[in-house]
Amino acid sequence: MKNHARVVVIGGGVVGASVLYHLTKAGWKDVLLIERAELTSGSTWHAAGGMHTVNGDPNVAKLQQYTIKLYEEIEKISGQSCGVHITGGIMLAGTRERLDWLKMAKARGRYLGMDLEIISVDEAAKIFPLMDKKHFTGALYDPIEGHVDPYGVTHAYAKSAQIAGAEIVRHTRVTDLTQRADGSWDVVTDHGTVHCEHVVNAGGLWAREVGRMAGLELPILAMEHQYLITGDMPELVGRKESLHCIDFEGEIYLRQERGGMLMGTYERAGVPWSPVQTPWDFGQDLLPNDLERIAPSLEVGFAHFPSLEGAGIRKVVNGPFTFAPDGNPLVGPIKGLRNFWVACGVMAGFSQGGGVGLALSQWMVEGDPGADIWGMDVARYGDWTTLAYTNAKVRENYSRRFRIRFPNEELTAARPLRTTPVYEQLRARHAVFGDYCGLEHPLWFAPSAAEAEDRFSFRRSNAHPHVAAECKAVAEAVGLLEISNYGKFEITGKGSAAWLSSIMANKLPKIGRITLTPMLDEKGKLIGDFTICRIGEEHFLLIGTYAAEVYYLRWFERHAPAAGVQVRPCAMQYVGLSIAGPRSRTLLQELVRQDLSNAAFPFLSFRRMEVGMVPAYVGRVSFTGELGYELWVTTDYQRALFDLLMQHGRAHGIKCFGGRALNAMRIEKAFGSWAREFRPIYGPIEAGLGRFVDFTKEEFVGRGAALAEKAGGGALRLVTFTVDATDADALGDEPIWHDGKVVGWVTSGAYGHRVGASIALGYVPKELATAGSGFEIELIGERRQALLQTAAPYDPNGARMRA
Ligand SMILES: Cc1cc2nc3c(=O)[nH]c(=O)nc-3n(C[C@H](O)[C@H](O)[C@H](O)COP(=O)(O)OP(=O)(O)OC[C@H]3O[C@@H](n4cnc5c(N)ncnc54)[C@H](O)[C@@H]3O)c2cc1C
Repeated sequence: MKNHARVVVIGGGVVGASVLYHLTKAGWKDVLLIERAELTSGSTWHAAGGMHTVNGDPNVAKLQQYTIKLYEEIEKISGQSCGVHITGGIMLAGTRERLDWLKMAKARGRYLGMDLEIISVDEAAKIFPLMDKKHFTGALYDPIEGHVDPYGVTHAYAKSAQIAGAEIVRHTRVTDLTQRADGSWDVVTDHGTVHCEHVVNAGGLWAREVGRMAGLELPILAMEHQYLITGDMPELVGRKESLHCIDFEGEIYLRQERGGMLMGTYERAGVPWSPVQTPWDFGQDLLPNDLERIAPSLEVGFAHFPSLEGAGIRKVVNGPFTFAPDGNPLVGPIKGLRNFWVACGVMAGFSQGGGVGLALSQWMVEGDPGADIWGMDVARYGDWTTLAYTNAKVRENYSRRFRIRFPNEELTAARPLRTTPVYEQLRARHAVFGDYCGLEHPLWFAPSAAEAEDRFSFRRSNAHPHVAAECKAVAEAVGLLEISNYGKFEITGKGSAAWLSSIMANKLPKIGRITLTPMLDEKGKLIGDFTICRIGEEHFLLIGTYAAEVYYLRWFERHAPAAGVQVRPCAMQYVGLSIAGPRSRTLLQELVRQDLSNAAFPFLSFRRMEVGMVPAYVGRVSFTGELGYELWVTTDYQRALFDLLMQHGRAHGIKCFGGRALNAMRIEKAFGSWAREFRPIYGPIEAGLGRFVDFTKEEFVGRGAALAEKAGGGALRLVTFTVDATDADALGDEPIWHDGKVVGWVTSGAYGHRVGASIALGYVPKELATAGSGFEIELIGERRQALLQTAAPYDPNGARMRA
């Protein structure tokens, strides 16, 4: 083994091999893969090898498409067969809701260029004659489904990488990782030490243990997974392998395997494997079968596919593989650990492995993953993902693998975990809570405890009239919203202003003022949107998206402030309450000594005040479109502030409102939101944020690219539609049609209670951004007329929030 390499990839499963290949393809040849045993010695060797393009996150779906197309390329380079069988497959629905879900998946596939088709039960039975039609209501047909040979794929990647110059060392275990002062790594193995610039953790089943060598606790857990292969079935005699099916109601997947069927299930009572420490002596072993555990699924399987019952069981496979809490991979660089990269938690290696390798290699070589991979970015998790949290969430995710997640469905595992001081007060007012980064936050308020639960639906739900009442209170009187679930950073020290100015696109506010600003990457794409509040000459409070806290910190670290600047994440040190509505000023004025008149405290002002006895930062901003204030206090004061506002607010008609009402109101105002309208695939001009970019500043990250975007106008435009909807509003990811063609996609949607219309925000080609009519938006399989609005549907001139 050589003692120096530019990159050491730890792990020779399908993911490590893919990373190695992609690094060579991106031009880095001095790369070394170290494998503990033979290639495929983790979960890869016993995988069923199934692959598909459909994924709930469209950006992950794109990477899955890429992976499946890649097999031809690596077969050609390596001469190693991947054993690709593209058979096509069906996903069967047994309920109306599931069929709705499939229709929505098909619709999303339209703008991803996927050729999906909704078919009848009869058509499905022609493709998959083993099914008993009476259990089903319809199906989705995907021509690009199939399976591969896991050994073949891994070796095809490995050989292709070797042909390009990569080296692979087998039967060598990495036992420790130490970092030198210059950021490079010593990779200690049982056969000597390799010094390298970059380390990639592709340790699969042992990725958690490899992470620990660098002081990391990655949120991943292996689950046992079983599939069985039946004996030969007369129904399949003479049939080439061409049957692939997911039965959502049975929670099973099936495919033909020679003369029998392979059937796997994600059982509800899934069992974690090695929850704390993965044994190093686990080789190409299988776990003991437990057919008892999958008996309920087998029973449904035999009812839905009767001929399986008599086929007998030829073989049972029980093997472990890893998951992150949301089931998507963990990819990218780690905040605080220079040159340390992860590519792990990949639960569908044969659909996703290629995309993961591509994204990571581009990130390492080009400094950017080259695609919007937020859904798999390791930075989406923070320190709330303890071992026990991960365990609870992974088990939940596993058990729900084939279940529908409704748009208004909040998952229940690991809750409540994090709560703010007003949690009980909100509960007493019948709040229905959501979970955001493990933190409970109110979504809406029910009139009684008995009604305080969501009835899940793709259509308008039981919350609809209550959200309407909340919006009415905000429009006519005053509403109170807990806003603790924002990310906050305090920036202090000499040089703070210059540093912030260099990474934010807008000008900095004066002391006592607020500005809104995008943050751009070098390519001029949006990688954040912030509210900057200036407390002093070199003292700022930055407010942004909490889920992106680690992502932002990683970016700040990369553009490290000059010595003297301190960046302190303080999301849970400053918690907040917001009041909004025409009576909010009168209410607040009763509680503070400062003059709150428009002249004395205009829109975008920010000041330290005593609210009653509570010291608070008060900012005059509005995400609802109404006159409003955000009040930030240290955690110990939040209860008192809540009681004070509610008590004095009674005379002004105060009502608590939640995140659902806020979302509806910001959409009525056509205000974008991070991870929906604002993502790293859009530029500020495309996203309608051009007015928040200060091109008079001489220097800031992304300035050149943003200038070019301004000159050329970009390719897309964020636009607003009112939609001719009846009982279902857009949610996000629906296709936008124009003159019979799919031209764009929805990013958010809601019913706008103040304007009495269903509204959607989305991106279309800029040439169509003034077209007005001719648009349709597909809602649950039905194309609905959509009228493009040239201004925000609610209070387009912003008079109410500036009043
Ligand atoms: C029963 C079963 C069925 C499955 N079916 C499918 C399917 O149909 N389709 C699909 O896409 N996926 C399927 N999977 C999941 C699939 O197997 C995984 O997505 C994939 O194998 C993950 O690959 P990996 O490279 O991340 O991890 P692994 O395969 O676990 O590879 C990690 C490698 O790293 C090595 N390693 C770890 N630590 C060290 C160290 N310290 N030093 C040196 N080497 C080290 C290990 O020896 C191992 O070879 C299935 C899994 C199971 C168990």
